[in-house]
Amino acid sequence: MSSVASRWATPRPIPLLTAMECYDCDTEARTDTSAIGVCDRCGLLTCQDHSFVVPAGVLVANGLGRTLSPLPARRVVRRTCRAAETAR
Ligand SMILES: [Zn+2]
Ligand SMILES: [Zn+2]
Repeated sequence: MSSVASRWATPRPIPLLTAMECYDCDTEARTDTSAIGVCDRCGLLTCQDHSFVVPAGVLVANGLGRTLSPLPARRVVRRTCRAAETAR
């Protein structure tokens, strides 16, 4: 076996995953929460307290075009991003 092949064949330990922390909790030095998802707008991790889960329209195929699905999907958005989305 060549050295390249043996290097590829060497099993590596899978790193232990640690709990993912909410960005806003991290800035507030809170450690009692864990992330529930990724903000659909900014991509930061967010927790239940710092986010909203809101309905999201989905376009589906309809003939040669597309139409809005009768059922909403959902998306998670951090409070900061939701405030920006709904500001007038
Ligand atoms: Zn949080
Ligand atoms: Zn965001």
